Amino acid sequence: MLCSRRGRPSAISLLALLLLPLLAACSSPESVNVYSARQEALIKPLLDRFTAETGIAVNLVTGDGDALLARLRNEGLNSPADLLLTSDAGNLYRAQQADLLQPVSSPALEAAVPVNLRSEEGYWYGLSLRARVLVYAPDRVDEAELSDYAALADPSWRQRICVRSSGNIYNQSMVAGMLASQGAEATQAWLQGFVANFARQPQGGDRDQIKAVASGQCDIALVNSYYLGGMLNSGDAEERAAAEQVRLFWPNQAGRGVHVNISGAGITRSASHSDEARQLIEFMLREDSQQWYAEANNEYPVRPGIAPSALLQSWGEFKADPLNVSELGRLNAQAVMAMDQSNWK
Ligand code: FE
Repeated sequence: MLCSRRGRPSAISLLALLLLPLLAACSSPESVNVYSARQEALIKPLLDRFTAETGIAVNLVTGDGDALLARLRNEGLNSPADLLLTSDAGNLYRAQQADLLQPVSSPALEAAVPVNLRSEEGYWYGLSLRARVLVYAPDRVDEAELSDYAALADPSWRQRICVRSSGNIYNQSMVAGMLASQGAEATQAWLQGFVANFARQPQGGDRDQIKAVASGQCDIALVNSYYLGGMLNSGDAEERAAAEQVRLFWPNQAGRGVHVNISGAGITRSASHSDEARQLIEFMLREDSQQWYAEANNEYPVRPGIAPSALLQSWGEFKADPLNVSELGRLNAQAVMAMDQSNWK
C-alpha cells in the first residue's frame, strides 16, 4: 500500500519527510529477516559482509532451535522471518513437514551442496558439516579397541561410556542414521547394550562429556566434532587442558562411515524477501564464505574442494555416511521411541 501511495501536492513536503524512509525501504534491494539457531558470534561477521557487498540489510533473531520452530509455527504466514537457520537436519526436516518452508533452487545452490546434504525438493540446504565422533582417554583406552558405533554395545565397555540425554537431537539423529542403515531390530538390540554401558546418568552437553572423559568419570564419549575443536581453541585454560587429554576417533571407517549432520538453511513459507533470502544462502555457500563459516564453528565446509581448518586437518580425513540427511528427520520419531524403550534417559 505505502509503496504505491501518492501524496497530494499540498501535502508533499510533510508527507515526504514522513514517508521517505518507508519509500526507501520499498525499493529493492532491501532486507532479509533471519531466525537463527546459530549463535550470533558464529554468523554475524558473515552477514555483515553480505550486507556490505549487496546493500541488503540482515535482521537477525537468534534462539534455541526448538523455540524458533515453535515461533515460526505460531506466527504462520504472518511471520516476519524469511530464512530459518538451524544446527541440525532434523529441525529443518520438521520445519519442512510443518509446511513452514518453501522450495527454492538455483544452479549456484545445486553446485555448492552435495545431494545428500540438502532436501531433494530444495526446501533447505546444508551450510556446514559435523561428525558425531568418539573421544577417548588414551591412558585407559587402546585405539585398537575402537571400531564402530555397534561395538559400543559390547559388555567390555560396561560403565565406561558418557553421552548426553536422548532428548538431544544430535543423539536422535545418530540413532535415526542407524535405523536407516541396519533396521529397527538391530538398532533396538544395540541400544540395550549401549545404554547398559553408561558410566553415569546422561547429563550436560557434549563439552561436559569431553570433560568427564578427561577427569576419569568415563573412558569414551560420543560428541560432535566441533565441540572438541571449540575446546581446543578455547580462551578458557581449563577447557583447553581437558580437551588436550582426550583423543578423537573416527568410528565406522570400515563400514558405512561416520554419522554426519549439517547446519543448514531454508526459506520460510511466509517470506516476503525470498529473493534476498536465496541470495544470502548462495552467499554463505560461496568458497570464501564456506571457509570462514566452517572455521568459525570448527566444522567442515559442505562445498566440495574446500580445505577445513588446520586443526581439523590434523584429525585426518574421514569417510562420512553417504545417507541423505533428510532420512535423519524422517526417522526421528522412530528413533525417539526406540531410545525411550531402551531407557536412555
Ligand atoms: Fe551443537
